[in-house]
Amino acid sequence: MKKLFIANWKMQLTPTEAEKLARSFVSTFKNVSNELVVCPDFLSIATLSKIFKSSAISLGAQDASAFERGAYTGEVAASDLAYLGVKYAIVGHSERRNCMEESDKLIAGKIKAVTAEKLTPVLCVGENAAERKQGKAASVIRGQLRGAFKSLPGKNLRSIVIAYEPIWAIGTGVNCDPLTAVRMKTIISDWCQRAGMKKTSILYGGSVKADNAASFLGTAGFDGLLVGGASLDAQSFKNIVNAKSN
Ligand code: PEP
Repeated sequence: MKKLFIANWKMQLTPTEAEKLARSFVSTFKNVSNELVVCPDFLSIATLSKIFKSSAISLGAQDASAFERGAYTGEVAASDLAYLGVKYAIVGHSERRNCMEESDKLIAGKIKAVTAEKLTPVLCVGENAAERKQGKAASVIRGQLRGAFKSLPGKNLRSIVIAYEPIWAIGTGVNCDPLTAVRMKTIISDWCQRAGMKKTSILYGGSVKADNAASFLGTAGFDGLLVGGASLDAQSFKNIVNAKSN
């Protein structure tokens, strides 16, 4: 079964570097049997849209506005992302929840806006270290799911990707142990089922590398991976994608 691998380049690259890395991805991933998605920053989307056009790589965005076109300074409309060929939009990444203080209400609006443009939302959920220590991880995740789907009942969604990304594992080099991750995956899939969602893919994200990727994809049963740091090099991302068969 096809797995989904999403590269989140965050704000790590200049437009020139993003273009170079995109070309390197195209030559590295010629024959792929999985779904590969690259999420550059907004500035590089138009350029990468052309580079990926006849390649095996799909384009994603790291965010999208909750608003339609209008007087919203600094925002980027989901309709413009769709026009440029973007297929996926990350919503509610913990860096946006924490650094930009994004609320569940705003995240719910973003899911509604990207879905209206037929983009697939990639909703990120995850607890922080203190919440895990206090035994609150499951209730935090359920709360984030409830908040995110407030404006759009699950049964109305065409397809949704949910990434379990424990905050303490993002960019730290310390990944969640696969058994714990699977428990969280079950909590997410049970919640989605109860909400009537039909097509849900659940990914793991947080310090994924080639040497731990297989442990999330094999018996752990994740539908794919969301990768930050290790996606900034085409070969290291390829090693993660190839780890699937282990
Ligand atoms: C992420 O950006 O969502 C992420 C998981 O980053 P990293 O792989 O660097 O931990």
